[in-house]
Amino acid sequence: MSEALSAEINREISRRRTFAIISHPDAGKTTLTERILRAGGAIQLAGNVRAKGERRRTKSDWMGIERDRGISVVTSVMTFEYGGCVFNLLDTPGHEDFSEDTYRTLTAVDCAVMVIDAAKGIEARTLKLFEICRLRDIPIITFINKMDREAQDCFALLDEISSTLALETSPATWPVGRAATFAGTYDIRTRQIHTKEPLPENDPRLEQVREDLELAEAALPEFDREAFDAGYLTPVFFGSAMKEIGVTDLLDALVAYGPVPRAQPTEGREVKADEEQVTALIFKIQANMDPNHRDRMAFARVCSGRLTRGMRLKHVRTGKQFALHTPQFFFARDRQLAEEAFGGDVVGIPNHGTLRIGDTLSESEELRFTGVPHFAPEILRRVRLDDAMKAKKLRQALVELAEEGVVQLFKPQDGLPPIVGVVGTLQLDVLQSRLKAEYSVSIGFESTPFTLARWISGERAKIDAFCATNRSSMADDLDGDPVFLASSSFMMRRTIEMNQDLTFHDIKQIG
Ligand code: GDP
Repeated sequence: MSEALSAEINREISRRRTFAIISHPDAGKTTLTERILRAGGAIQLAGNVRAKGERRRTKSDWMGIERDRGISVVTSVMTFEYGGCVFNLLDTPGHEDFSEDTYRTLTAVDCAVMVIDAAKGIEARTLKLFEICRLRDIPIITFINKMDREAQDCFALLDEISSTLALETSPATWPVGRAATFAGTYDIRTRQIHTKEPLPENDPRLEQVREDLELAEAALPEFDREAFDAGYLTPVFFGSAMKEIGVTDLLDALVAYGPVPRAQPTEGREVKADEEQVTALIFKIQANMDPNHRDRMAFARVCSGRLTRGMRLKHVRTGKQFALHTPQFFFARDRQLAEEAFGGDVVGIPNHGTLRIGDTLSESEELRFTGVPHFAPEILRRVRLDDAMKAKKLRQALVELAEEGVVQLFKPQDGLPPIVGVVGTLQLDVLQSRLKAEYSVSIGFESTPFTLARWISGERAKIDAFCATNRSSMADDLDGDPVFLASSSFMMRRTIEMNQDLTFHDIKQIG
């Protein structure tokens, strides 16, 4: 490879930081996001993230759901610079109904910031999201938020993290004061005090820090880079997003040791970010982001090489060429054409449905990235169309929304109307209101006899024979792959037992 290009790629990837924030609702993710973007100069006024979102959201009924329920359904990416690094902050939806979407977003990050409410400790959703990160060995940085309020004892919090999550904790900062007297942080590595006003040497809060740290040094491990990279140890920061305390500690740490873009698994080998050949993985599709422009954005994580605007990449699933005319970066306020991007970057690629979740784009080699899954749906419903004249439109709309990952779509092999599958019922509401708002199609849902779905693999002839005998329980998914639908877990178990030459999967790797 050309030395100049190699040097440039290495220089650029070493300053990429791609991360997500995971937390239980109300722990302070939105507030922290705003403060981070403000520290990065991406927004002038803290409060803009939500304010801006809200203005846009009022434009469509779909967003109305989000507003009414006070949750964020949309995954987005925000790019900003801080401390000489390019940060890509991927937003994960807060509601658990969207765990599949969240999972896919977490396949595209190199590290996660886990926000914990200092009074509440580890909560249910934090735990779930943490488990997803652990499955992928994603390094975790912990931010204990709301230290300006009554909080649990710091040692008790650290203890809870290590025992509940089986994750070693290494405090990177220590709080100076608590609750109403919380004044700032002490940086254990640089031994610097970060408070807005300087404190006298004999301030009791500093005395407390000294005492606590003696204990901490004896009881807790030092920061260990390798253990952090492998996801076994988390550096812990204390702060208050609301009072803007501890936010720059966190960003400085990400600059200092935040993981650089990791290698990404493909079917054959791992692709390292410093490879010259451009590769990218589509992990998210979002249609109609701008209701006025009916656009359809595929979000791609660049995995290697230097991507440049106008370049042609191979779309591995179809074998066709795909020209990157208008790749874009997203900022808190707006978007901009991406002239070039490197491993770790996330770019939006406008397209008309060619790109799907899990797709690989590659400059030359036939590669398929793995690790972007579909989970077997837990709720299966038949779609009932209110106006029969709109059947064709509905079919098209369902395909588009399924490609986006809003629901999974199953076409029964016996020719009955389509079945949609979801992991949580909120997805059905989203489907219904988006069909109405974006496609003017009114639908309802009817129950089906089915409660479980499994993808089938095995020899072609055996699958065909199985389909022929179970036609009324068979459907094809969006990619045309066969899915067996069962009415109960008993039926599913029995079918699996009686068909040992086939394999039944509750997770489908896509791409
Ligand atoms: P999210 O649901 O995780 O996005 O949480 P938000 O950022 O919306 O915060 C939930 C509530 O906690 C809001 O009322 C915030 O103002 C409040 N909050 C967030 N961070 C802090 C903090 O550091 N201290 C205090 N006292 N309140 C906070």
